[in-house]
Amino acid sequence: MGNFEIFAHTGGLTFTLFALGCLLISGILSAREKRLLSPISFLLAAFVFDFFGTGVEKIAVEAFDKGNAIETYVMFELLLFLVAMIFMSSAASSFISGSSEGKGSLLPVWILGIIGGVAVILFTLIIPAGDIVNRMRLIFPLVSFLYLAVGLAARFSDANSDGYILAFGITVVLAVIVGLKFFNIYTPWYVTPMSYILYAISFLLMKSNAVESKLKKAEQDIAKYNQRIEEIIKSSPFPIIISRLSDDRIILANNNAVKLFGIDTKKLEHYHLKDFFADSDNRRLLLERIEEQKEVQDFEVLIKTPTAETPFWLLTSANIIDYNYDLALYSAFQDITSRKNREALLQNQAIRDPLTSLYNRRYFEEEVKKQILKAKSRGLPYSVLMLDADFFKKVNDTYGHKTGDKVLIELAARAEKALRDKDIVARYGGEEFVVFLPEINSAQAYKVADRLRQSIASIIVYSDNNQEVRFTVSVGVSSSEISDNVDTLVKTADEALYKAKQNGRNRVEVFTKEDLKNFISQSEQMIKEEKKNLHPIYDKENTAEISLLDGVDTKDIAGSGE
Ligand code: GH3
Ligand code: MG
Ligand code: MG
Repeated sequence: MGNFEIFAHTGGLTFTLFALGCLLISGILSAREKRLLSPISFLLAAFVFDFFGTGVEKIAVEAFDKGNAIETYVMFELLLFLVAMIFMSSAASSFISGSSEGKGSLLPVWILGIIGGVAVILFTLIIPAGDIVNRMRLIFPLVSFLYLAVGLAARFSDANSDGYILAFGITVVLAVIVGLKFFNIYTPWYVTPMSYILYAISFLLMKSNAVESKLKKAEQDIAKYNQRIEEIIKSSPFPIIISRLSDDRIILANNNAVKLFGIDTKKLEHYHLKDFFADSDNRRLLLERIEEQKEVQDFEVLIKTPTAETPFWLLTSANIIDYNYDLALYSAFQDITSRKNREALLQNQAIRDPLTSLYNRRYFEEEVKKQILKAKSRGLPYSVLMLDADFFKKVNDTYGHKTGDKVLIELAARAEKALRDKDIVARYGGEEFVVFLPEINSAQAYKVADRLRQSIASIIVYSDNNQEVRFTVSVGVSSSEISDNVDTLVKTADEALYKAKQNGRNRVEVFTKEDLKNFISQSEQMIKEEKKNLHPIYDKENTAEISLLDGVDTKDIAGSGE
C-alpha cells in the first residue's frame, strides 16, 4: 500500500500521519482484547514498517533523480517492506490460529522472511537487478495482503465477524491496487490514509465482535449451568423447589416436589413459596437463618398444600444460588410426617391413659401445679374433684371385666364432654378420676360435680349379652380455699369422696375448712407414725429400742434360742 506520493505535499503527509495515528490508537485499544493482542500488534508493526519503507523509497527516488547511488537506500527500503511483510503474515497466521497462542505457526513466516532478506541483499548489493527489485517492491505487499486476506477470511465463521469482513474487504481492494501496479496503473496518494482509517474502524469492530462473542459465551455458559441444575434437580429422589429470592415466586419444582406440594405445573409462576408454609413464624425463623448463614441444614418446616387437608412436617435444607440471572433459594425437602406422628404418639403415650385416653396422673399433677401458680398470680379460685365409680367391683363381677372397661370409657367420655375445654380430666387410677376446674370456687364446684354425677348416672352401657348396665359415681370436692398444693388438694378431695361413700354413695361431698383441722391433726398423727417406723432419728423422744428382730414373733425366738 506504500505510496511515496504521500510525501509529495505537506497536506497529504499530515493527513496520512493523522490516519496512521488513528490506526495506532484504535489498534492499541482493540489489542486489549486478549485474542486480538497478537494479530493487531503484528498488523500495527507491519503498517509502521511499511510507512518507513515508503519513506525510504521516497528518499531513493529523490537520490535517483539527482543521479546519486541508490543501492543502499533500495536495500533498506526493501528490507523494511520485507519486515512489514513478515509482520503482516504473522498477523494472518494469528488470525488463522484464532488466538495469541498461535505463535508456533509463525516459524515458516520467519524462514521465508530470511530467504527474502537474502534475496534483497543479493539483488540490490551483490548482483543489482533493477527489474527484480521493482518486482520485489510489489510482490512483498501483494503476498502479504493475499495472506492477510486468507487469515481474515478464516475468522468469517465466528459468530460475530463484521470487523473481519471489513478488514478482508479493504485487504482485497489493496491487493488489487498493488496488482494493478504491475500494469503501471498507479493509485492516488489518499488511498493509503483511507486504508488506515478503514483498518482502524475494522479493528474497533473486531474488538466489539470479541466482546459480543464473550457475552454470548457467558450467556451460553449460564444457560448450560441452569440446564445442568435443572437436570440434577429433576433426577433427585427428593422434592426440590427453586424460588426467586426477590419475589418468592417458584421458578422450578421437580416431579417429587410437584406431587408433594400439589403444584399445578402449568401455573408454576403463580405460586409463592410462602403460600406453602402453615406457620408464618416457622417461615420467618427459616428465612432469618438463611439470611445469617446463607444456608440451612435439616430445618423442620410445617407445610400446607391445596391438596392435603392437614399440614405436615418436612425437613428442609436450603441455600442461596444464582439461577437465571437471579438470586434464588434452592430448597430440598424430606417428608418426616411419619417420624413426627411417631414422636407425637410417643409423647401422647407418656401423658395419656391408654384405656380412656384421658390424661394420666403424672401429667395431671404436673399440669395442675402450673395452673395453680397461674391462678394464684391472678387471684383466681380453682377446685379439684375426685370421682370414684360406686360398687364397681360388682359391675366387673356381674357383667365381666370387658363391660367394666366399657363403663370406664363411657364415664371418661362423659366427663370430658360435660366439662369445659380448660378443665383437666385425668384417670387417677383404677375406677378413680380426678378433675381440675380452674376459676371455680368450692360452691360452684359442688354444683358442677353434682351435675356431672347426674349426667353419669344417666349413662347406659350394654354388656356382652346385651344387658343394660347403669352405674353411679361418688364425688369429693376440694378447692383453693383448702390448699394450693396439688397433693393436699387431691388428698382432701379423696377425703371428701370417702365421706360421700360413707354417706351412701352416688352423691357429692365437699371438703370444708372445718374438715381441715381434723385432717391436719389426723395427718400429723399419721406422719408421726410413719416417721416412727422409718428410723429412730425421726423421733428422738421415743427412746424405745429398735431391734433387728422387731416384728418377729418372740415365741419363735424363744423357741429357736432354747
Ligand atoms: P366402692 O363403691 O366402695 O368404690 O366400691 P368398688 O367396688 O368400686 O371399690 P373397690 O375399690 O373395691 O373396687 C374397685 C374395682 O375396680 C376393683 C378393680 O378390679 C376394678 N378395676 C380397677 N381398674 C379397672 C379397669 O381398668 N378395668 C376394669 N374392668 N376394672 C377395674
Ligand atoms: Mg369404686
Ligand atoms: Mg376405688
